[in-house]
Amino acid sequence: MARCVVTGGAGFIGSHLTERLLRDGHQVTVLDNLSTGRRENLRGLESHPHLRFVNGSITDPLALSEAVQGSEVIYHLAAAVGVKLVAEDPVRTIETNIYPTENLLRLAVQGGQRFYLASTSEVYGKNPKAEWNEDDDLQFGPTSRPRWAYGCSKAIDEFLARAYHRKYGLPVVIGRFFNVVGPRQVGNYGMVIPRFVDQALKGGPLTVYDDGSQVRCFAHVQEVVDCVIRLMHTEAALGGIFNIGSDQPVSMRQLAEEVIRRVDPAVRIDLIPYQQAYGDDFEDVSRRVPDVSRLERVIGQKPRMPLGELLDDIIRAKRLNAGHAAN
Ligand code: UDP
Repeated sequence: MARCVVTGGAGFIGSHLTERLLRDGHQVTVLDNLSTGRRENLRGLESHPHLRFVNGSITDPLALSEAVQGSEVIYHLAAAVGVKLVAEDPVRTIETNIYPTENLLRLAVQGGQRFYLASTSEVYGKNPKAEWNEDDDLQFGPTSRPRWAYGCSKAIDEFLARAYHRKYGLPVVIGRFFNVVGPRQVGNYGMVIPRFVDQALKGGPLTVYDDGSQVRCFAHVQEVVDCVIRLMHTEAALGGIFNIGSDQPVSMRQLAEEVIRRVDPAVRIDLIPYQQAYGDDFEDVSRRVPDVSRLERVIGQKPRMPLGELLDDIIRAKRLNAGHAAN
């Protein structure tokens, strides 16, 4: 049994991680200010004897130090996330993603915690390689385009975490998430699968941006959480950076067609220009596929769930939720 802290534990990935840690018999303190996280993500766990929920912000140094006091493991997932949110509020992105991470790393050096830093595939920017491995260059666009603030801010987090590892021996693992999806993810912050599924369930149309040739790989949150926990139990992973995601590419057009086929074949697709979706100064990443061989080599596994199975799970959860909401 370990005493764990999950920042952002009421968020989409954080809540699945919290649930899993509790199931494995650990004690969990969740620190979340419910800005993009939701209490209902922890539904059913409120009265769990090993869960402590702290409604506070990682930007509040006192809340941070109180939350981590006496813990052994820190999973730092809290961040300003979602391309849409980030494009709309770059100040919040930078303030939430940089200073609190540094603060938390310092606390971990003092408190002796093992540290997981949630990073993102956004750090590769728009690198044109077909598959990205962890040693590839970061290629951001200009600072006049707010999208890159997100990747840049998480890249600074990575530099900080690596620096604390080298200078103070902090046992840290850095995981770069690639398009993690699953039940409880919401479309409000731009994420494509919950948006497509919601749109299809309402009878459409599905809003595919640009010409829909953009490519992504989608990994199920439960498989991702499993990889995170394994990494944290693997000595060889300490100090390392890992891509965590599926390596099965799909275009947004194909994705929309898959959703439509499963929900209602009568639903149409609308092609929407980026400008209309995100405003004038937006730039998309045309292809994002991870090389996950390092992950597989170090922990002997990688996310494998096929897209169809993943979509079925999300559609089932959305229907169930709609049923709950209607009752
Ligand atoms: N996308 C889309 N329609 C939507 C939302 C997103 O076509 O309603 C596209 C978006 O332009 C991007 C891809 O889907 O190319 C994945 O978007 P998401 O925001 O989920 O993730 P990210 O851009 O961070 O990979």
